[in-house]
Amino acid sequence: MSETGQKLIKASEMNASFKYEILKMHGGEKLMRCFQCGTCTSDCPVARFSDTYRPRQIIRMAQLGLKDRILSSDTSWLCASCFTCTDRCPQDVEVASVIRVLRNLAAEEGHIPLVFKEQYASILESGYAYKIPELRLKKRETLGLPPLPRGNAESIGKVLRGIGFGKGGGNGGT
Ligand code: SF4
Ligand code: SF4
Repeated sequence: MSETGQKLIKASEMNASFKYEILKMHGGEKLMRCFQCGTCTSDCPVARFSDTYRPRQIIRMAQLGLKDRILSSDTSWLCASCFTCTDRCPQDVEVASVIRVLRNLAAEEGHIPLVFKEQYASILESGYAYKIPELRLKKRETLGLPPLPRGNAESIGKVLRGIGFGKGGGNGGT
């Protein structure tokens, strides 16, 4: 997993127009209100179990325009979208939505962690996000359990393609 914020920042990395890209996106409008109090990080359930995931840091990097560093990193994909940060931010920054915006921008550029590409491929193939092992299916049979409902891969695929999922350089987008 690549990290976003542990390296020194060079002026050449700072893209002054990046914040405007975020500000015009739904949920990103209040990015510049952040005054770095750290409430989002201290209340984030993911940050509690990660040495690298820090929503406060992601917000600051977005303000500073560290576009390439953010979009090429897997860090923002760790967000569980629980919205605790958004609910608790004293500045009303929609932290979870900013992170969603960043993931969407990353996906458009083809930066999607392998695990999500695999989920996308699995959904298109079977309608399920994870391939269910044959062994488990057989075990259900021996236990007399009914077969699992069939995933409708065709119609899910149609919906995903309809919203542009799969465009960009990767196998998927959001
Ligand atoms: S809680 Fe809000 S103001 Fe505080 S660091 Fe997080 S985004 Fe910034
Ligand atoms: S929405 Fe994401 S960043 Fe915010 S508290 Fe939940 S996991 Fe952390």
